[in-house]
Amino acid sequence: MSLNIESVTKKFGSFTAVDDLSFNIPEDQIFGLLGANGAGKTTTFRMMIGLLNPTMGAITWDGRPLTEKTSHVIGYFPEERGLYPNLKVSDQLLYLGRLKGMSKQEIRIQVKKWLERFKVPEYENKKIEELSKGNQQKIQFIAAVLHKPKLLILDEPFSGLDPVNVELLKEAVVELKREGTTIVFSSHRMEHVEELCEYLCILHKGKPVVHGSLKDVKRSFGKKNVTVYADFDLEYLQELSGVTRFKKVTEGAFLQVENEDVSQRIFEMISKKGFVRKFELEEPSLNDIFIEKVGASYE
Ligand code: ATP
Repeated sequence: MSLNIESVTKKFGSFTAVDDLSFNIPEDQIFGLLGANGAGKTTTFRMMIGLLNPTMGAITWDGRPLTEKTSHVIGYFPEERGLYPNLKVSDQLLYLGRLKGMSKQEIRIQVKKWLERFKVPEYENKKIEELSKGNQQKIQFIAAVLHKPKLLILDEPFSGLDPVNVELLKEAVVELKREGTTIVFSSHRMEHVEELCEYLCILHKGKPVVHGSLKDVKRSFGKKNVTVYADFDLEYLQELSGVTRFKKVTEGAFLQVENEDVSQRIFEMISKKGFVRKFELEEPSLNDIFIEKVGASYE
């Protein structure tokens, strides 16, 4: 079973929100969809769950289109939260669980399990509006996973949560993956994507600009980061060919270089100059890649 997005385009009038997007998400994977505000992530998710129809192309799960009939397969955590403020947490979850075809008893078991897991068992009989925004978000997450979906779509699940709750949700996501759920999520926090995803796609103005496994994306970017701590002035390094970024820091400098050969040249050069306390070559971070692929065109 896998989710397949094939040459999907979505237009709103003459505006193209998603432009010829193709990717495949294999079963039990966590896939990250990244992009600046307005890049087309939510529109892509809405097409995945069948809330919007693609203008062109097709989205299939296990070879078949996703429709209302397959809604029990999907769990969706929307960016704009959709809970009824006046309902009690237990009633809200009962209602949503019934919509997904669950029995009352199964819902009760799952709600208890998840509220305990998220360390808020006392919220069962509270009204949604009595909860803080972050705690409402945890209830929204429970609503998305209650029926054990095969495909879980999370639109910015971690935004606005405190660090402890971010960890709770991340652990839940990893466990769901381990149990065989395919997960797609969007985030503006690169470190979350780096930590959780094996595959990712960066959308820019509706077009995929980077796509593949995290490892391949980093490898094909080519550039590396170098950290140097030394007891002599390093500023001359920024003039060297192959040095694409240079930042002075208290103990030395951070550099971005075109490839490993450049870092080797730098190492040889500075080791003749004096005492080097630290020389570290690192893969680029996803943040570096995002900034280069997307950031340059921010107005
Ligand atoms: P964010 O990170 O800010 O949530 P996003 O990547 O989720 O952004 P989308 O919400 O998918 O972006 O929006 C993509 C583009 O499509 C935006 O320019 C938005 O204004 C436009 N858009 C989305 N829905 C509609 C609609 N119903 N009618 C017209 N334009 C729309």
